[in-house]
Amino acid sequence: MLDWPNIDTVLLDMDGTLLDLGFDNVLWNEHLPARYAHARGLSADVARESLYAHMRDTRARLEFYCLDYWARYTALDVRSLHVELAHLIRYRPMAAEFVARIRVCGKRAVLVTNAHRDSVAVKDAATGLLATLCRDFSSHDFAVPKEDPEFWRRLSAVEPFDPNRTLLIDDNAAVLDSAAAHGIAHLRTIAQPDLRRPPRSELRHIPIDDFAEIMP
Ligand SMILES: [Mg+2]
Repeated sequence: MLDWPNIDTVLLDMDGTLLDLGFDNVLWNEHLPARYAHARGLSADVARESLYAHMRDTRARLEFYCLDYWARYTALDVRSLHVELAHLIRYRPMAAEFVARIRVCGKRAVLVTNAHRDSVAVKDAATGLLATLCRDFSSHDFAVPKEDPEFWRRLSAVEPFDPNRTLLIDDNAAVLDSAAAHGIAHLRTIAQPDLRRPPRSELRHIPIDDFAEIMP
């Protein structure tokens, strides 16, 4: 159970937390490699392996999340690829209701995402997510990804929060570790970020399956 009387700020990740990571997995594992293969005259497998190798090299760096970076690398319009898949964008179970409930309880609901602003815009157009939140921040606004503890220092300069009274929900363990290093006291991960895949086990942070479990 969460200690709701002692939590007044809820920091929320977007992809794999509020929204189904299925969209992102289809985009980056299927749609982009297929278009890249077609543009370069490569087989699908060769194209995917080439992209994956480069993704591994950039993981946990801002470039990994940067649509401009991948548009330059692939010479493809990555934002348009997002729009083509917009029908796959959806909330995870009870996520919208959870955000609304936080607001009704007088707590701050703040989006903290590594997603590029163009990706946030496409997802917001499909869901109306941003209007439901107090504020929204992309790590691109701060020039460091959430995996870097400096992110939380830069965030607190523009969105003051008491780490002892703050909850972060994020499906990325490295991000939760970085938040813990900053002193954020309440942390939860998501068992099933991609609704088409089985829930994950052996997680090192406390998981939730459905936001209904932790409603304030
Ligand atoms: Mg995420």
